[in-house]
Amino acid sequence: CGIVGVTGNKNAVDILVNGLQKLEYRGYDSAGLYVNDEGKKDYLVKRTGAISNLRDAVNDMKINGSAGIAHTRWATHGGVTVENAHPHFSQDKRFYLVHNGVIENYRDLKEKYLSDVEFTSQTDTEVVVQLVDYFAVSENLSAKEAFKKTLSLLKGASYAFQLMDREEPNTIYVAKNKSPLLIGLGEDCNVVCSDSLAMLNVTHDFLELDDGDFVTVKPDSVTIENKDGEVVTDRQPFHVDID
Ligand code: GLU
Repeated sequence: CGIVGVTGNKNAVDILVNGLQKLEYRGYDSAGLYVNDEGKKDYLVKRTGAISNLRDAVNDMKINGSAGIAHTRWATHGGVTVENAHPHFSQDKRFYLVHNGVIENYRDLKEKYLSDVEFTSQTDTEVVVQLVDYFAVSENLSAKEAFKKTLSLLKGASYAFQLMDREEPNTIYVAKNKSPLLIGLGEDCNVVCSDSLAMLNVTHDFLELDDGDFVTVKPDSVTIENKDGEVVTDRQPFHVDID
């Protein structure tokens, strides 16, 4: 139900957990994060219940990272369990994905493309990350191409997505359709969030996204492509004047 992400900041874990805490008002039943430490190490941590459970877990594990994605879940498909909490991951543990919203045709996609894949959750979301991996491997596509191909197959879908690829540890791929999502512009880092409130400790300058936008977020750049695949060059950030 809430999404945050950051790339290019050594305090990624704190930024993510604090960001989720600021989104608690949206409601949730579980929370999780994936963090990559400059390609040297990566971590996936998920907990049911309060954000404080996730915070305690990452503190105990002393995890570090400079890029990551995090999520609070409001279950729509599959019960409230650690396995069903996001991020979800591909079977080769290369791709990690968080999702707000619903994918209506996930069963059809699973049947058509993923009959050989071993799933670890009951969610609609996991189908998306397994599909990205399926196209990356079977059609030799980049993460970006495989994600775009997957998005083109989703029907009746509302989503805000963040995807990370272990092989591109500083990049977050973002897609939005009928679900709120913003990009925040920091100093030497960039962030992603459902609500600017989550990231005011990092920046006060945000870009609004349109339905169908696909965004490549790196520490020093944000590239927005619109629903027709054209790079958008005139999107102006807005400034949030509260602390
Ligand atoms: N449909 C997804 C799930 O049930 C995402 C729910 C959400 O928006 O938090 O896991």
